[in-house]
Amino acid sequence: MRISVAIDGPAGAGKSTIAKIIGEKFNLMYINTGSMYRAVTLRSLEKEIEANDVKSVCKLVSTLDMHFKNDRLILNGEDVNDLITTPRISNNVSAYASIKEVRQNLVAVMQKMAKQYDVIMDGRDIGTVVLKDATFKFFLTATPEERADRRYNELKNKGIDVNYEEILNDIIKRDYIDSHREVDPLRKADDAIEINTTGLNINEVVDKIASVMETKLENR
Ligand code: C5P
Repeated sequence: MRISVAIDGPAGAGKSTIAKIIGEKFNLMYINTGSMYRAVTLRSLEKEIEANDVKSVCKLVSTLDMHFKNDRLILNGEDVNDLITTPRISNNVSAYASIKEVRQNLVAVMQKMAKQYDVIMDGRDIGTVVLKDATFKFFLTATPEERADRRYNELKNKGIDVNYEEILNDIIKRDYIDSHREVDPLRKADDAIEINTTGLNINEVVDKIASVMETKLENR
């Protein structure tokens, strides 16, 4: 039987870093679903299609082919990872991710991936919508200030010029939109294990998740 791991939580909770490490440890394909919504945002902004022009966004989405190679999103043959992590994309992505038809399309792609491979997926609605029957579900949280701190350091290390206040405001704004939107809002699945990562380092969170998984997998 396939193994699937759902990691949900707000922006900057450490999901992608942790999912990558757990994916490697347990030999799972890592799927960063936020990067798929970011890719839609990237192409829409390039073509100057606004999020309220649902018809045009949907038409565009139907031309996009997405798959993952070495943890990186390949969009119509192009590695777009550096282009989709900029503050401009972060500022706009929640609006495109609120479009019902976009979500339906991308969720179907994600579910297909989970049928083909053992996966670890991070996002906002993985445990509640995409992989309702996931083998494991985790929900990571941390205070907005700690999450902004982490994003700030991550972007700085990549050489991107950033402002802490702007990042904190973006995180607070995205939290609000992501958890109040009508379709598939950010929410902890009832059967997800919640881990508050405030004050914990990456290894401590990884150890918590790995120990839950090892115990269950040994007893399977
Ligand atoms: O995870 P990341 O911060 O890159 O996600 C970018 C945005 O994509 C989120 O703020 C959210 O609006 C959207 N998203 C989503 N559902 C997912 C993953 C991401 O709505 N499963």
